[in-house]
Amino acid sequence: MFKGILIEKDEAGYRASLTDLDEAGLPEGDVTVRVSHSTLNYKDALAITGKGPVVRKFPMVPGIDLAGTVGHSTHPDYKTGDSVILNGWGVGETHWGGLAQKARINGDWLVPLPEQFTPQQAMAIGTAGYTAMLCVLTLERHGVTPSDGEILVTGAAGGVGSVATAILSRLGFRVVAVSGRPAEADYLTSLGAVEVLDRALFETPGKPLGKERWAGAVDVVGSHTLANVCASTKYRGVVAACGLAGGMDFPATVAPFILRGVTLAGIDSVMCPRRERLEAWRRLGSDLDISKLAAISNEIGLSEVMPLAARLLNGEVRGRVVVDVN
Ligand code: NDP
Repeated sequence: MFKGILIEKDEAGYRASLTDLDEAGLPEGDVTVRVSHSTLNYKDALAITGKGPVVRKFPMVPGIDLAGTVGHSTHPDYKTGDSVILNGWGVGETHWGGLAQKARINGDWLVPLPEQFTPQQAMAIGTAGYTAMLCVLTLERHGVTPSDGEILVTGAAGGVGSVATAILSRLGFRVVAVSGRPAEADYLTSLGAVEVLDRALFETPGKPLGKERWAGAVDVVGSHTLANVCASTKYRGVVAACGLAGGMDFPATVAPFILRGVTLAGIDSVMCPRRERLEAWRRLGSDLDISKLAAISNEIGLSEVMPLAARLLNGEVRGRVVVDVN
């Protein structure tokens, strides 16, 4: 038996609880992992509270991230004792996830723990941080360089936003952070933001085209914010869109795209091909200042996950949440 969070949905309703799980109940897979740490992402919070249709099969162990050591493996690339991490692939949505002391998964989904990081540090980065790096790689792939001008990061005090701010500033970009929490301005400056803007400036319907300011942007908010970011992006600038913290809609016009050649690049971390994942983790190893992870992350135990999930969806949690599952 081992401890884990279980989400159930039946006549008694939708509920998540910390419970004892039987190893015989683990799903199929060729690698069994002794989990040391998992995380609490926005998507996990939606799954645990039931506020979003994340869980596609019940009962489900949530947790889209995990770090741990291989306990048993029939996969050619992994042997007992290897340190591994996992992000996405539907884990915590359709396949039992990381918020438990054990997981059994398909070895093709695993990434060896990068040598620069402890399991705890890799989870301080987690899916949110790896997604932030995918956004940065996309800006680079489209040719955005520090000499092109400022980069806007929305939802900056959250997980994706914090890591994106830290990476981009380390790479020499002038990062302008957008946050709804003025109290976090010093935190964002410490991560490298040169200016912090109130998110209220972006949340209401704006004009199809605004003053050109951003060479690039990382948006986690969606809705009017994403529309306004696109409208104020410079000629041939690039917006990496990865989130919906402010809404799933996109009430925009095509003006920025057809009149300014703005590129709107979609980012998905869940099914991202392995080659690009490995590249994202390699770049996290070289381009994220590890000393900033302590400020970005907080650690909790499994029993604290449920109350914190509700607070995270209310935008009350700063940075990243690491869960020590043992
Ligand atoms: P967090 O909750 O850590 O951060 C989200 C931040 O967005 C908050 O901290 C807050 O920042 C801001 N925010 C919250 N609510 C609102 C609102 N109603 N309007 C405007 N801003 C708001 O989440 P994550 O960083 O983990 O994830 C951010 C988004 O990215 C989520 O939508 C998540 O689903 C998505 N995501 C997508 C991935 C992908 O593969 N495409 C992977 C990972 C995440 P502040 O207080 O600074 O304003």
